[in-house]
Amino acid sequence: MKRRFLLVMVLLMMVFTLSFSQGQREPQDLKVFISVDMEGVAGVVNWEEVSRNGKDYDYFREIMTKETNEAIRGALAAGATEIVVRDSHGSGRNILPELLHERAKLLRDWSGGHLSMMEGIDKTFDAVIFIGYHAKAGTPDSPLAHTMSSANITDVSINGVSLPEAGINGLIAGCFDVPVVFLSGGRAICNQAKGLFGEVETVAVKEGIGNANLNLHPAAAREKIFEGVKKALENRKKYKPYKLKAPYKLELTLKNKELVSKAASYPGAQRTGEWELTYTGNDMMDIIKAFHGMH
Ligand SMILES: [Zn+2]
Repeated sequence: MKRRFLLVMVLLMMVFTLSFSQGQREPQDLKVFISVDMEGVAGVVNWEEVSRNGKDYDYFREIMTKETNEAIRGALAAGATEIVVRDSHGSGRNILPELLHERAKLLRDWSGGHLSMMEGIDKTFDAVIFIGYHAKAGTPDSPLAHTMSSANITDVSINGVSLPEAGINGLIAGCFDVPVVFLSGGRAICNQAKGLFGEVETVAVKEGIGNANLNLHPAAAREKIFEGVKKALENRKKYKPYKLKAPYKLELTLKNKELVSKAASYPGAQRTGEWELTYTGNDMMDIIKAFHGMH
């Protein structure tokens, strides 16, 4: 009898400890999620520089890592207690783990799931930060502008709002009630993000001129990213999670014939034109899944 009592007590203590180490938060906790793309880091202007086999890729992945570090330092200066970095470009294996600030955890490669560039986010996070982001497909004066897949997608919009990757990823964060507080990248995506989110701190590390870029020095970009992230997180109360009003209508314009037929076979998808498809629903995460399944 006594032994059984002891066993029950030990089990209860284990459950108690587990529930505390998992779901529970201390009031001073500040969890920050950083999604990092590569096209929008300082200096980058050409696909070769962001492709694994490109000549200058290794040089620019170091700049990408260093910009991420400034975001981490800014977050820590604002009191961040936990930081997850999601490597969101290409292979998902660009950021150099050893060079990354030791206080952050790094999520690499793709699970195949619909959270994609936001893999790893959940309701326990307080703020989202985008580093190295780029403008949506078709944006003028914005080298490397594209949305998810430059070969496949002309435009994606939800409820008539044409979205860059930052918009789609902002909506994913919104499903978990987490606001996007900061974005760095080219001038064009900074403007697009402000147009979508309203309140968001941005740092333009470069400005497009046709297919050329006028860049800040990487060190100057890093300084601005540190200050911007710190400022955004210190004022985080003023940022609201990005949401649209249900019901939702996804409109997808593709540019790959094979993909149009494949996308049309996604359950619930409607083909509405030669390149156009729609999908409607009342649950934003369902819309995100459809978008992921249709391209
Ligand atoms: Zn990218």
